[in-house]
Amino acid sequence: MRGSTPGLEGLRLVCAGFYGAAASGQPPFGVVRWGLPPQRGVARPSPAGTLVRMSEPEDAFDYVVVGAGTAGCVLAARLSEDRHVRVALIEAGPMDWHPFIHIPATVGAAISLRSINWRFMTVPQEHLAGRAIPIPRGHVVGGSGSINGMVYFRGHPTDFDDWAAAGNPGWSYREVLPYFLRSENNDAYPDSPYHGQGGPMNVTFIKRPNPMTPAFLEAMQALGYPRTSDFNGPTTEGYGPRQGTILKGRRVSTATAYLKPARDRDNLSILTNTRATEIILENHRAAGVAVVDSAGKRSLSVRKEVVLAGGAILSPHLLMLSGIGDQAQLYAAGIKLRHHLPGVGANYHDHLAVGVLMEMSNSESYGLSWRAAPRNLLNVFQYALFRTGPLSSNVFEATGFIRTLPELSRPDVQIVFQAARRNPHPFPFPLGHGYAISIVGLNPSSRGSVRLAGADPLAAPLVDPKLFSHPDDVATLLRGFRIGRRVAHSPAFARYRATEVGPGQTVQDDAAIIEYIRKAASTVHHPCGSCRIGNDEGAVVDENLRVRGIEGLRVADASVFPRVVGGNTNAAVVMIAEKASDLIRGIAPPRPLDLPRAQTA
Ligand SMILES: Cc1cc2nc3c(=O)[nH]c(=O)nc-3n(C[C@H](O)[C@H](O)[C@H](O)COP(=O)(O)OP(=O)(O)OC[C@H]3O[C@@H](n4cnc5c(N)ncnc54)[C@H](O)[C@@H]3O)c2cc1C
Repeated sequence: MRGSTPGLEGLRLVCAGFYGAAASGQPPFGVVRWGLPPQRGVARPSPAGTLVRMSEPEDAFDYVVVGAGTAGCVLAARLSEDRHVRVALIEAGPMDWHPFIHIPATVGAAISLRSINWRFMTVPQEHLAGRAIPIPRGHVVGGSGSINGMVYFRGHPTDFDDWAAAGNPGWSYREVLPYFLRSENNDAYPDSPYHGQGGPMNVTFIKRPNPMTPAFLEAMQALGYPRTSDFNGPTTEGYGPRQGTILKGRRVSTATAYLKPARDRDNLSILTNTRATEIILENHRAAGVAVVDSAGKRSLSVRKEVVLAGGAILSPHLLMLSGIGDQAQLYAAGIKLRHHLPGVGANYHDHLAVGVLMEMSNSESYGLSWRAAPRNLLNVFQYALFRTGPLSSNVFEATGFIRTLPELSRPDVQIVFQAARRNPHPFPFPLGHGYAISIVGLNPSSRGSVRLAGADPLAAPLVDPKLFSHPDDVATLLRGFRIGRRVAHSPAFARYRATEVGPGQTVQDDAAIIEYIRKAASTVHHPCGSCRIGNDEGAVVDENLRVRGIEGLRVADASVFPRVVGGNTNAAVVMIAEKASDLIRGIAPPRPLDLPRAQTA
C-alpha cells in the first residue's frame, strides 16, 4: 500500500495513472505485477503466491480468514489484536498498490482494471431483454471496497429491525448502531450521537462539490421533497449532499483503515495471490483450508475457526466446493456431499438501477473535452500538490432517498445525481459533458441464486439474480424513473441546455419506459443474501454467523444479509465484520443505543 505522500509523488501517481496504466492494464513504475487478468467469468489463481508475512514455519493458525475484502480486512485486524493467536488472511488478488484505487475520481478507471476486478457476469436475464449483466467485484486487498464508489450510507434503521424481527436476535438497529459508530470517524458531525469519532473509517463530505450539484438540490426542493442534513442521522429520508469514505483526498477502504495499521503484527500473515479452494472438514468441523498459489496446492490447518469473507458470490461458492450445500445441486456438479444445507447460494439479490442520461455542450460537469482541458490540467496539479479539487471527489456528491408512493413506510428509491456524462468506459473521467440521474430500486423482491458450474474450483459460479422477476420491482423502477426524469428536466438545470439521450424524449408511455429499463438497467453492485442469517431451514448461518451444522466455521460478509439494506452496502458489511469479531472473540456486545428517529409515514 502506498503512503499518503503529497506533492510530486502525488503528481507522479496521477500522471502515470492517466497516461499509462489504465489503457494497458499494466502497473505503472515497473511495480511487480501480482495478478493475471481474470478472463471474463473465469476465476484463475494468480502467478505469484505472495506470503507477505509468515513468522512461523508451519502453516497452522488459530483463525483463517478467507478473502481480504471489506469484511476480511476488518476481521483480520480485529482478531489479530489478541497477540496470543495466529491469524492468516487469504486473498486471491494482489495488494492494493494501484494509484487508481486511491484517487477518488478515478474510481471508474479502477473498476476497468482487469487485474483487480473478478468481472463476473450474470447468466442471461430473462426479464432484462436476455442480457448478461456485469458484476464487478474486487479481486484485490480491500476487495470490492477498493473499487467501490466510496459512498457512505448505513441503510434505513428499519432494515435492521426487520432482520431482527425475522428471528435474528442481536441484529436490530439499536443493537448494531454501536458497531457502525465504532468503525466511524465522521469529521462533519463531531458532537452528534448518531456518529462515531476516532474509528478507523474516515467519513466526510466532498469539500468542493461540482458547481452543478446545487442545481440537483434545487430541483429536488422544487419537486417538494424534504431536505435532510444527515442521511445517517435521525432522518434517513430526503435529499441532500452525501458523505463518502475519503481522507485527505484519498479513498478509505478497510484495507487502508484497518489492515494497513495491523499488517506488521507478528501474529498476522497476509497471503496475497492465494486462492482458497476448499474448507477441509473433519467430522463436521472445519479443520483447515486448501489453497492454491503459484507454488501449487497446499493446506493451512486451523486450531479455532475458519471465517469466510469472500463476498456474496464466492463465499457460497467455496461452501459448495467443500460439500456444504443443497444435496441435489452438489450431486449434479459432481461434488461429494458433506453437509446438506439447501440455503447455500439461494436468496441472492441486488439493487437494480436505470438512468436518465443528459448531454450538453456546456463544460461545467466533470469530463474530458478540449474546452475543459486547461481546467482539468490545473485539477491534476491541484490534486498532486494538495490532494484537493475535483480529483478528490468520488463524483457521487448528492442524492435523495424518497418514497414513490405516500403510503410507503420507508423510501423505495434512491435518486442519485452524477455531475458527469455517463460513458460505458470512463477513462478516467467520462468523455464530453452532461449529467445523469440514476434511479435505484431500494427494496427488491426478486430473488436468485449462485450455483456451481461444475467441480472445478477455479471455474466461475453461475450467478442468476433473476432481476426484475418480481412485478413489484418493475413497478417501483417505473415510478422512480418518472420522478428522476422530472428532476433531470427541472428548471433548476435549464441554463445547461442539456438534451436527454437516454432514453430520449420519444420514450414516454409506460410500456416504452419499461422496455427501456429492461434494455438499459444494470445493478449497482450490492449483491448479498446468498448465505443468509436465520433460524429456518433455508438459513445458512445462525444469528452468531456460525454455519448451521458445522463447527468452527462462520461466514461474515455481504452474503449473510437476510435482505439488502435500502441503500449502499459497504458500511453494513463493516458493521457485520465488527460484530463478527466480537462474536468470535467472545466479547460481550456493546450496550444498544436508543436514539430518536423521525417518522416517515
Ligand atoms: C463497483 C462497485 C461500486 C460500489 N459502490 C459502493 C458505494 O459507493 N458504497 C457502498 O456502500 N457500497 C458500494 N459497493 C458495495 C460494497 O463495496 C460491497 O457491498 C462490499 O465491499 C462487500 O464486501 P464483502 O466483504 O462482502 O466482499 P468483498 O469486498 O468483495 O471481498 C471479498 C474478497 O474475498 C476475496 N476472495 C473471494 N473468494 C476467495 C477465495 N476463495 N480465496 C481467496 N480470496 C477470495 C476476493 O478477491 C475479495 O477481495 C460497491 C461495489 C462495487 C463492486
